[in-house]
Amino acid sequence: MRIAIYPGSFDPLTNGHLDVIQRAARLFDRVIVAVAKNDSKHPLFTLAERTALVKKAVAGLPNVDTDSFDGLLVEYVAAKKARAIVRGLRAVSDFEFEFQLALMNRKLDENIETIFMMPKDTYTFLSSRIVKEIARLGGNVSPFVPPNVQVALKKKLEPPRRKDTKK
Ligand code: ADP
Repeated sequence: MRIAIYPGSFDPLTNGHLDVIQRAARLFDRVIVAVAKNDSKHPLFTLAERTALVKKAVAGLPNVDTDSFDGLLVEYVAAKKARAIVRGLRAVSDFEFEFQLALMNRKLDENIETIFMMPKDTYTFLSSRIVKEIARLGGNVSPFVPPNVQVALKKKLEPPRRKDTKK
């Protein structure tokens, strides 16, 4: 059984991430989307929220599971008996960091390979950070995220309703 782990913050999941998940699901028997706790990044959504959003969005993909993890990625990968880490590459700008990360992970555990996948070209400009920025400014994010993420962003970023009783 070929198992791949797709780790990330997924704060929140975008259609770019989903595209990578679908491609990986065609190559591996099982893909586990592993949501990283990543407190140091001060995510907008909690770990439980990010995990639930991924879980719902991948519900139609039979060989894709969702999980969360904290700590060293290679240890998590080994514990799941996986041999591959999947990462997405959008542009040259992703390369340097991803290259460093892949080689460091190989130093930590040489049995684990990192596989890079390029998303559909229309998703190469997409990032969770940009999606959050658009949502914060009241823009329409429906082309960029699955419907459940769109709803969650609206809820999270909507200004609190004024309890103004005066007419
Ligand atoms: P991290 O905090 O680990 O970078 P992200 O959730 O931002 O987590 O991204 C997880 C992985 O998905 C990374 O490899 C990132 O390069 C990739 N990725 C993010 N957005 C896209 C996209 N639009 N298309 C393809 N890959 C993407």
